[in-house]
Amino acid sequence: TKKAPIQRFADSVSAYFVPIVIFIAILTFTVWFSLVKSSVGFALMAAVAVLVIACPCALGLATPTAIMVGTGKGAKQGILIKGGDALETAHKLNYIIFDKTGTITKGKPEVTDLLVNQISEKKLLEIAGSIEKNSEHPLAEAIVKKAKKIKLKKITGFKAIVGKGVKANVSGKEYYLGNLRLMKERGVKLSGHLSKITKLESEGKTAMILAVGKKLLGVIAVADEIKKDSFKAIQNLQKMGLKVYMITGDNQRTARAIAKRVGIKNFFAEVLPEDKAKYVKKLQKKGKVSMVGDGINDAPALAQADIGIAMGSGTDVAMESGSIVLMRNSLLDISKAIKLSRLTMGKIR
Ligand code: ADP
Ligand code: MG
Repeated sequence: TKKAPIQRFADSVSAYFVPIVIFIAILTFTVWFSLVKSSVGFALMAAVAVLVIACPCALGLATPTAIMVGTGKGAKQGILIKGGDALETAHKLNYIIFDKTGTITKGKPEVTDLLVNQISEKKLLEIAGSIEKNSEHPLAEAIVKKAKKIKLKKITGFKAIVGKGVKANVSGKEYYLGNLRLMKERGVKLSGHLSKITKLESEGKTAMILAVGKKLLGVIAVADEIKKDSFKAIQNLQKMGLKVYMITGDNQRTARAIAKRVGIKNFFAEVLPEDKAKYVKKLQKKGKVSMVGDGINDAPALAQADIGIAMGSGTDVAMESGSIVLMRNSLLDISKAIKLSRLTMGKIR
């Protein structure tokens, strides 16, 4: 754990304060000893009185004690603060960026709609399920869960296309499954389906398209429920004067719908995992920034931020990268952590 900057300050003050006090005590002893001739006892008492009243150790102890109490209070409420510096910086934050999936939302998406083009819904789920069985993405889990009653096929050549989707070969054919961006890149004909896809996205759902060659076979829409505390938590932070942002790899329309529901005006969508940290850096030019996230793809941004806040339900990498971990996974605990930081710093001063 890292020392709080204020602790370093107190330590450097103590470094001068302690020798000075000892010097004064010795001086007191000499002066009294020469004034009240040969009374060692009285001179010693005067010197000890100087030491007791100045009590240089109290200055060195006050800060760590306050920080210990602060982190202890946090821990009792499920807010793990890893170092003194996090506790000190928390009350100075200007910006806070939330990841969408797994942070604002529960991260347990469920299939809500199926659209098919000349194949059956069962066939759509069979192919999509067989492919997604090889992916660890939460979206993939939702599809596999929906296809659990269907006997899945063996696949070859599985490949994840970062931030866009996946591809694989099933029974000798090459399939792509992913977002609109991927389909546009592949030149897939969307024609009549585009309006249905954008409608699903405007409802806050993530639409995944299955295609073979340039042919669209179907669309699987998935929705991820917003955590019940998210709206209130974001409101609290805005009331405290923080500027709140959302960042996600998901598309613009889905991002806008979710951001609107939790009262966030500023959001960045279609951000590739490696770019999340860049957005943090950008905001850091204007103030202190906190990133809140749960996934492996959030880890670089959590490490870059002045304070990285990880969900206790998140991946180990995220928890390792953050300096605060929310064990109860409720975003309401962020404003609590900031208040705790304010109180602790007040006590120290
Ligand atoms: P995030 O975790 O913020 O949603 P990702 O970079 O993981 O960001 O994903 C971005 C987008 O890429 C998803 O919204 C989805 O459209 C697509 N995608 C990613 N992985 C898969 C997958 N396994 N199957 C289908 N689509 C995927
Ligand atoms: Mg996430």
